[in-house]
Amino acid sequence: MSDNPENKVVLVTGGAGYIGSHACKLLARGGYTPVVYDSLRTGWAQAVKFGPLVQADLLDRAALDAAFAEYKPCAVMHFAALSQVGEATRDPGLYWRNNVSGSLNLVEAMLDAGCTNMVFSSTCATYGDQDGVVLDEDSAQRPLNAYGASKLAVEGILRDFGISHGLNSVIFRYFNVAGADPEAEVGEWHQPETHLIPVMIEAVAGAREALVIYGKDYPTHDGTCIRDYVHVMDLVRAHVLGLEWLLAGRGSRVFNLGTGVGFSVAEVIAQCRAGTGHRVPHSFGPRRAGDATALVSGSRRAVEELGWQQERSSLKLMIEDAWRWYQTGGYSG
Ligand code: UDP
Repeated sequence: MSDNPENKVVLVTGGAGYIGSHACKLLARGGYTPVVYDSLRTGWAQAVKFGPLVQADLLDRAALDAAFAEYKPCAVMHFAALSQVGEATRDPGLYWRNNVSGSLNLVEAMLDAGCTNMVFSSTCATYGDQDGVVLDEDSAQRPLNAYGASKLAVEGILRDFGISHGLNSVIFRYFNVAGADPEAEVGEWHQPETHLIPVMIEAVAGAREALVIYGKDYPTHDGTCIRDYVHVMDLVRAHVLGLEWLLAGRGSRVFNLGTGVGFSVAEVIAQCRAGTGHRVPHSFGPRRAGDATALVSGSRRAVEELGWQQERSSLKLMIEDAWRWYQTGGYSG
């Protein structure tokens, strides 16, 4: 089925979630049919706007087989995962079961159905803390938490099934994804929210009292953690390029997705006014377990090999788009 050039159906696991829903929008715009496979455990039915929804769990092998039989996708974009460092540290079993066992089920189901192309969302959390060096795709992977460890395990599954069964995978290791669809059709909506920029937006909107900065004694220029923030629309554009790479038969490859520039938590907060017109109330708290000091991407490979370009990945635009989206009321209605 995947060698039929007319087949533009893509199974998008986690397509009702933050990044997956943005990917679906871009896939639909590119003439693909995104079929969302999502348990709606953390995703939103309202986010599924660009193709059909199969509401099922990755741990449900029969449901996976039925979805492949019905839709015959040419490729899978695999976003579905639990993704919170704090939760992963408290409950690693949850992460190993959902992220690793679920992905293994998915890989076996797709291969049994004759589908051999997967775009996988991995993470810079697979690298762990490396003393502030810029991380490229060949950097050592030493995850600090069960979230990063679970994603690294899935990378291993993809590599091994590539060798044994001809599975082709494009693995994207994301740095910190932020922002929202500038047209505000879809956006980031987690309950509870834990990520820095949306938490900051909630604090600006008065939905929480203040933003707590986790730690001010890190070995950075201002004592707060450094991250590399990339706009979700730029990120999902890379996914469509990765899909086309696979459909063109170019084989398996790993790409970092970030900007190559790190900002401290304090610097992100300082940009809040530019993006929202408001200052964010904030205070300092203890470090959060599992946090790396600095994660900054070397992303030249995606630029050079995929032709990826970033259009909206300035802090100001990411905060502005997140703020616009938040003001629509998100999926709360
Ligand atoms: N952070 C913070 N307060 C918050 C949420 C996040 O200080 O309420 C910090 C966190 O410690 C990290 C950075 O912001 O240094 C980015 O965290 P986030 O959870 O957004 O992404 P992660 O890097 O964990 O994937």
